[in-house]
Amino acid sequence: MTKRELAIVVIEKLKKEYPDAHCTLAYEDAWQLLISVRLAAQCTDERVDRITPLLYEAFPTVAALAEADEREIEAIVRPCGLGKSKARDISRCMKVLHTEYDDKVPSTFEELLALPGVGRKSANLIMGDVFGKPAIVTDTHCIRLSNLIGLVDDLKDPYRVEKALREIIPPEEGNDLCHRFVHHGRAVCVARRPQCGKCCLKDVCRYYRSGT
Ligand code: SF4
Repeated sequence: MTKRELAIVVIEKLKKEYPDAHCTLAYEDAWQLLISVRLAAQCTDERVDRITPLLYEAFPTVAALAEADEREIEAIVRPCGLGKSKARDISRCMKVLHTEYDDKVPSTFEELLALPGVGRKSANLIMGDVFGKPAIVTDTHCIRLSNLIGLVDDLKDPYRVEKALREIIPPEEGNDLCHRFVHHGRAVCVARRPQCGKCCLKDVCRYYRSGT
């Protein structure tokens, strides 16, 4: 089976297992997703989802966050870890949205990537979830599962994984597949103790088939 064929099988199996593919972070507006993704670095989505309502209660708009004192933002987001740098990035990012984009989130990958604190992972997530464009979100689950299943060969660098997956995954499937990787990585293919016996991918998974 080629990697392209493997990708199609994996996509179909995970669609059946997780019909409802969605982002695990809660948000109502695109700018809120930008903030949540930044806060999610080295933090759980659950904790981010507990903190963001407090942030929006204090600063309910892009303009309010753009004008807020960084230290006030930091005081709220500190439980997510890396409070100082996350508050700085959120503040700078909201200032750019406020002054350059009329409080909206830009819709091209290049513009997103140029925003403070926004890397390829975040830019891909916004492109896929907000604008419905092709996207590959290479978070820890995507990288781990892609290697175990055999969609990529011993690649750990997020950009290299993204590039390799773009070559084998139909563009319209990438975003949902990455969401499903997150669900599967939490429920079954858990880091360091994958539950292969009950995995819907075991017939095609390289790790399982190799008996390692
Ligand atoms: S068979 Fe095992 S290693 Fe492969 S995807 Fe499933 S849980 Fe992960």
